[in-house]
Amino acid sequence: MPKKINKIAVLTSGGDAPGMNAAIRAVVRRALGLGMKVVGIEKGYQGLLNEEMYDMDARSVADSIHRGGTILRTARSAEFKEEAGKKKGAEILKKRGIEGLVVIGGDGSYKGALGLSKHDIGVVCLPGTIDLDIACTDYTIGFDTAINTAMEAIDKVRDTSSSHERCSIIEVMGRNAGYIALWCGVATGAEDILIPEKYDYNEQEIINHIIESRKIGKTHHLIINAEGIGHSTSMARRIEAATGMEARATILGYMQRGGSPTCKDRFYASIMGAYAADLLNEGKINRVIGHLGGDFKDFDIDEALAMQKDLPDYYYQVSRALSRSAINANRVAK
Ligand code: ATP
Repeated sequence: MPKKINKIAVLTSGGDAPGMNAAIRAVVRRALGLGMKVVGIEKGYQGLLNEEMYDMDARSVADSIHRGGTILRTARSAEFKEEAGKKKGAEILKKRGIEGLVVIGGDGSYKGALGLSKHDIGVVCLPGTIDLDIACTDYTIGFDTAINTAMEAIDKVRDTSSSHERCSIIEVMGRNAGYIALWCGVATGAEDILIPEKYDYNEQEIINHIIESRKIGKTHHLIINAEGIGHSTSMARRIEAATGMEARATILGYMQRGGSPTCKDRFYASIMGAYAADLLNEGKINRVIGHLGGDFKDFDIDEALAMQKDLPDYYYQVSRALSRSAINANRVAK
């Protein structure tokens, strides 16, 4: 029989993501309903080491589900990455009678949770990152809001780019993963999408694409560039020099992290938060919750961290086919 857990804590770690509040709210209210006590740890693992925490009741999470960011705040902690930091964190939790911890963050945060599990703290992790770059899940909390925020911004830039017959390079978030760029690029009809997983740094190909597009009458050219490739401003200068088309860079930056979460992010985060409380209540520990194949599931934390995720090549091929079909049709016609 797994040991009954009576007191849990919850924290958010790494980059903030819209929907984290819905997850915290669900963890707290579900756990309280199951008879557990809940402690909120502020500012991620650094807050744990600084003992910045408080007892939460149902009202602690009131009026938060529609807000972006995280009411528990978040941080990155170098101290916690060290073995001594993880040991200290586990000791603080034990001293306060906390047997289980819900961690809402990206895979860096999962590694921290794994470290705590080695010191007999039962952990459950939720995928809280706008980047969608966690292998055991096809959904991460905040991705849906971030892509919709970015898409709306790109649509606006596209309008003015089209009026002025410009080339626009719009840089979206994604240091190592191109999901935001790919989804937004397809959704806004971008001519080129540059993502870390695929881009071969062949700028001449982009320049040729612009020249050929102009020949068939296209008046603007939209390039979505992922943060991991970056250098959008210098790229704009080079493209303008090579094509004669006015080129401007727009870096969307942190606006993609903020804002009220979409319905999907609120709903999925709520289910995942409640699921985490249920697992701890059943004594099922050291799990990572994901959404795969249409269902919410839980995985062993070691297995989840070992899983690999590849951006589907088909999605990328489709994005290229859609943005080049007019040029290809023109070639065939000739
Ligand atoms: P995002 O996807 O938004 O970047 P993340 O959770 O991956 O989120 P990180 O900065 O990688 O963000 O990790 C958050 C925190 O988790 C770190 O500041 C650190 O405290 C902890 N952490 C990361 N990696 C480890 C590790 N290998 N061991 C212990 N703790 C870690």
